[in-house]
Amino acid sequence: MAVTIDKEKCVGCGDCVEVCPTDALSLVDEKAVCDEDLCVDCGVCIPECPEDAISE
Ligand code: SF4
Ligand code: SF4
Repeated sequence: MAVTIDKEKCVGCGDCVEVCPTDALSLVDEKAVCDEDLCVDCGVCIPECPEDAISE
Protein backbone atom coordinates (compact mmCIF):
# COMPACT_ATOMS: atom_id res chain seq x y z
CA MET A 1 0.00 0.00 0.00
CA ALA A 2 1.08 3.56 -0.45
CA VAL A 3 -0.06 7.13 -0.49
CA THR A 4 0.54 9.35 -3.49
CA ILE A 5 2.76 12.38 -3.03
CA ASP A 6 2.35 15.27 -5.44
CA LYS A 7 5.96 16.30 -5.93
CA GLU A 8 4.91 19.62 -7.41
CA LYS A 9 3.16 20.51 -4.14
CA CYS A 10 5.58 18.95 -1.63
CA VAL A 11 7.89 21.51 -0.03
CA GLY A 12 9.90 18.98 1.97
CA CYS A 13 8.76 20.16 5.40
CA GLY A 14 8.93 16.65 6.86
CA ASP A 15 5.68 16.89 8.83
CA CYS A 16 4.34 13.72 7.26
CA VAL A 17 7.57 11.85 8.00
CA GLU A 18 7.20 12.72 11.69
CA VAL A 19 3.66 11.39 12.06
CA CYS A 20 3.84 8.16 10.07
CA PRO A 21 3.56 5.28 12.57
CA THR A 22 5.31 2.79 10.32
CA ASP A 23 8.21 4.96 9.10
CA ALA A 24 6.97 4.56 5.55
CA LEU A 25 7.71 8.16 4.65
CA SER A 26 11.09 9.72 4.12
CA LEU A 27 12.56 12.72 2.38
CA VAL A 28 14.58 12.20 -0.78
CA ASP A 29 15.98 15.31 -2.42
CA GLU A 30 13.61 17.35 -0.21
CA LYS A 31 10.52 15.55 -1.44
CA ALA A 32 8.49 13.03 0.54
CA VAL A 33 8.47 9.47 -0.74
CA CYS A 34 6.35 6.58 0.47
CA ASP A 35 7.67 3.03 0.87
CA GLU A 36 4.82 0.85 -0.35
CA ASP A 37 6.13 -2.10 1.67
CA LEU A 38 5.77 -0.15 4.95
CA CYS A 39 2.65 1.96 4.35
CA VAL A 40 -0.53 0.55 5.92
CA ASP A 41 -2.85 3.18 4.43
CA CYS A 42 -3.80 4.52 7.85
CA GLY A 43 -4.28 8.01 6.42
CA VAL A 44 -2.65 9.82 9.37
CA CYS A 45 -0.22 11.68 7.12
CA ILE A 46 -2.83 13.11 4.76
CA PRO A 47 -4.27 15.91 6.96
CA GLU A 48 -0.80 16.71 8.35
CA CYS A 49 0.47 18.03 5.04
CA PRO A 50 0.23 21.84 4.92
CA GLU A 51 0.45 21.76 1.12
CA ASP A 52 -2.26 19.16 0.57
CA ALA A 53 0.29 17.10 -1.36
CA ILE A 54 -0.70 13.67 -0.05
CA SER A 55 -3.60 11.60 -1.29
CA GLU A 56 -4.68 7.96 -1.11
S1 SF4 B 1 -1.01 6.36 5.20
FE1 SF4 B 1 -0.21 5.92 7.29
S2 SF4 B 1 1.32 4.32 7.00
FE2 SF4 B 1 0.94 5.22 4.98
S3 SF4 B 1 2.53 6.80 4.75
FE3 SF4 B 1 0.68 7.79 5.62
S4 SF4 B 1 0.95 7.74 7.85
FE4 SF4 B 1 2.39 6.27 6.94
S1 SF4 C 1 3.93 17.11 4.88
FE1 SF4 C 1 3.50 17.52 2.70
S2 SF4 C 1 4.88 19.20 2.13
FE2 SF4 C 1 5.64 18.29 4.04
S3 SF4 C 1 7.15 16.76 3.37
FE3 SF4 C 1 5.18 15.70 3.64
S4 SF4 C 1 4.23 15.74 1.58
FE4 SF4 C 1 5.88 17.25 1.59
